[in-house]
Amino acid sequence: MSLADLIRLDGRVALVTGAARGMGAAIAEELLALGATVVLSDQSPAVRDTAEALGRGGGKTDAIVTDVTDSASVDKTIAEVVARHGSIDILVANAGIAYEEPTTTHSDENWRRVMAVNVDGVFFAVRAAGRHMVAAKRGAIVAISSIAGVTSVRPELHIGYDVSKAAVAHLCRNVAVEWASSGVRVNAVGPAYADTEMLAEVGRTRPEVMRAWLADMPIGRLIAPREVAQTVAFLVSDAASGITGQNLMVDGGYSAA
Ligand code: NAD
Repeated sequence: MSLADLIRLDGRVALVTGAARGMGAAIAEELLALGATVVLSDQSPAVRDTAEALGRGGGKTDAIVTDVTDSASVDKTIAEVVARHGSIDILVANAGIAYEEPTTTHSDENWRRVMAVNVDGVFFAVRAAGRHMVAAKRGAIVAISSIAGVTSVRPELHIGYDVSKAAVAHLCRNVAVEWASSGVRVNAVGPAYADTEMLAEVGRTRPEVMRAWLADMPIGRLIAPREVAQTVAFLVSDAASGITGQNLMVDGGYSAA
């Protein structure tokens, strides 16, 4: 089969978390374009509008409001995807939050919050989807990590975020090995500074930080959400059938510099 055939996702059912906007919405759009049925989930009810808008472009979309920090709600979402669409073949655990706080003054509350969303949230979704995938002996999972999980990003300081993203990458490595013989692949994708609302806020309020970030990007620009989405789509497709347990950077050379 050619690469063009292998990358198609026709007949697959995909769930993307944190898909109301940003990278999650771009990933949902890309999977949809490749033929998958895509269920978008987010804690924000705006996810329904995003799903509807993407569906107008062709293909089958659905939406479920879920808070990924609540394991019962995540279990229910996965069960709902299977009940409505017959299976879950692809999971993209994308929901995440970021913030800045130096270590010595870091609050307990922010530490627990970032771990709850970025680590618990990924674990709950991977565990719930994995139950179906391992039983079906097929499936592909991608979780969104970050350059912050492999380097200490500056000039801003956010130890909680960085540690949470390192955990995401290692979670994927670990589960990938556990499930490798079951035909379920698990990888992480680590973007550098990407052009989403998460960063736009920094550009608006602290342009000097944005200038420092751009100066650190070997390609001299932000990563486009679509560039991350295309990498995710490749990894969940049969074109990547030999790849599992990786943390693939989409960072314009950032981690190589
Ligand atoms: P974003 O803030 O634009 O979107 C994140 C989405 O996740 C939002 O729709 C939000 O409602 C949702 N979300 C947050 N908490 C949730 C929860 N508890 N349950 C369900 N949904 C929740 O962010 P983005 O830039 O699109 O980031 C997407 C992912 O990519 C995140 O994991 C982020 O850490 C990661 N990432 C972003 C960048 C970047 O530069 N933008 C770089 C590296 C990694």
